[in-house]
Amino acid sequence: MEQMPAIYLDHAATTPVRPEVAAVMMGVLTESFGNPSSTHQFGRKVRKLMEEARQKTAGAIGAAAREIVFTSGGTESNNLAVLGTVRANRDKGRHLVTTAVEHHAVLDVFRQLATEGFEVTVLPVDEYGRVSVDQFRNALREDTILASVMHANNEIGTVNPLAGIGKICRERGVLLHTDAVQSVGKIPVNVEELQVDLLTVSGHKIYGPKGTGALYIRRGTAIDPLMRGGSQEKAIRPGTENVAGIVGLGKAIELAAGESAHESIRLARLRDKLIRNVLTSVPDARLNGHPTERLPHNVNVSFAGVEGETLIQGLDARGIAISAGSACTSGALEPSHVLLSLGVERSLALGTLRISLGRSTTDEDIDVVTEELKQIIQQLRSI
Ligand SMILES: *Cc1c(COP(=O)(O)O)cnc(C)c1O
Repeated sequence: MEQMPAIYLDHAATTPVRPEVAAVMMGVLTESFGNPSSTHQFGRKVRKLMEEARQKTAGAIGAAAREIVFTSGGTESNNLAVLGTVRANRDKGRHLVTTAVEHHAVLDVFRQLATEGFEVTVLPVDEYGRVSVDQFRNALREDTILASVMHANNEIGTVNPLAGIGKICRERGVLLHTDAVQSVGKIPVNVEELQVDLLTVSGHKIYGPKGTGALYIRRGTAIDPLMRGGSQEKAIRPGTENVAGIVGLGKAIELAAGESAHESIRLARLRDKLIRNVLTSVPDARLNGHPTERLPHNVNVSFAGVEGETLIQGLDARGIAISAGSACTSGALEPSHVLLSLGVERSLALGTLRISLGRSTTDEDIDVVTEELKQIIQQLRSI
């Protein structure tokens, strides 16, 4: 029988649904089955719950409720943000800017747009995975319509200087989208401070349900829907709403935003302890990502001469759940595009672990993981 992992350290891949979130979702599923578009009391009741969730989502990122559109997750929000604004603004230009370390749900959309005749500049990053504000400024052209730069990276945890990029976009009249899936609920995220026009949120990375997400769309931003069929979500995202999921997302983001100030301090301390422990007890280990401009729950380390996939299996056998670069590429024997962009060598990139901490992580977990890692790597290297 499959043994449940005793220690879960893959919170960047997904998180467990919090009991408070499950409870409000259960309430909707069992008691509030109405269609929010119905004008009778059953409809009005769920409409109210949905609009409260919209308020909470908006409040967590400094937006207004009417600037929030609910979606099926981070992937859909990224697709809608990029494809939707590009299609609605195609008469304004054909140049787009993104970065080499984006999630595939952004990178692959730009790849698609490149085949449709748009010119895409993919900005490189420095050795820590950060975009340079100066390089960004220089990449803009007269006909640039949209830039998409992630707030914080899902593999290496590096936080981008987004406010500086936002300021430039504002001055130059370029729309700015950011994938904030990993930063929301972990570090402060405010659409006014960052000066972004579109911002992606995902429910299941913040202890909410899978298949839920939101897109912040600054008022006045022209955007085409990806689907047609109804007037839900201002016709930007037609289809009867996933009300239980939306209410769950609202609860999850409210809780995450409320707790992030102290939880991020706790996580950062555990993160720094783990980094220190690993770098001192395992020879030939290298930390990837920025030493300080980094998500509080992310550790990404490469071990020379060891295969990441073998490491992951060894740890799994000992009850520790950790992944390589990202959940989407796990199992693949291709090195991560993020690590390659930092200049990490192919073979070293293949010997990489992403350890992502979360609400359940304790000091003891950090001690256990360090010890097990040390032993497994010693074993593997002695073969
Ligand atoms: C997980 C993730 C996504 C995808 O979100 P889903 O809700 O799983 O579709 C997008 N971007 C980043 C940075 C992520 O970590």
